[in-house]
Amino acid sequence: MSASSKSQRRAAIEDVRNRKCEECGNHTMDGTQVEGLAVLQCTMCGALGGDDDLIARIELIREARDVGIDIEVYPLVLALNAIKGVRCRESSGGDDFTRVPPYVRFGIGDNRVVHLENLANTIELQRRDLSHTWRIQVKIARDGVCFELAPNIEMHDIASHTISMLQGDLFLLATAVKRNQDLSWWKV
Ligand SMILES: [Zn+2]
Repeated sequence: MSASSKSQRRAAIEDVRNRKCEECGNHTMDGTQVEGLAVLQCTMCGALGGDDDLIARIELIREARDVGIDIEVYPLVLALNAIKGVRCRESSGGDDFTRVPPYVRFGIGDNRVVHLENLANTIELQRRDLSHTWRIQVKIARDGVCFELAPNIEMHDIASHTISMLQGDLFLLATAVKRNQDLSWWKV
């Protein structure tokens, strides 16, 4: 390595270390792990810095924990709740240990049953990218009828890697539900 590239490299490292904290103006940000993600943290006030996507992910993880929803299913819950008339009641991100596949149970307000068609179309359009088939079932709960979006899978078919594949599906479905709400075929 040449002297100049060495000094460039050192300058780049210094630049990262000396990033100014946006919260308190302190000039030392140290590398750290938060929620398993590598970010910078202010040595004075603890504010996080670094990659914006990672910061957003950390905020989402914390928000999900605050409201008591599994992070794996939280983006899908947000995407569903953004549909007018749809309200998620119960959900799970899936559990490897107990072999519970992920699911979301939601209610639909008056005259909004058209969203079942929107969601069924979304699942159908996404079908090839999903690891399993997903379906929407009608469920009778104490507080009335609700709908359950879940993978079509029996407990004895759940292997050790199945839950993480289904969690990948949750992410794809969240992205698709969020995106499709803005498309022309989505009925309102
Ligand atoms: Zn600070």
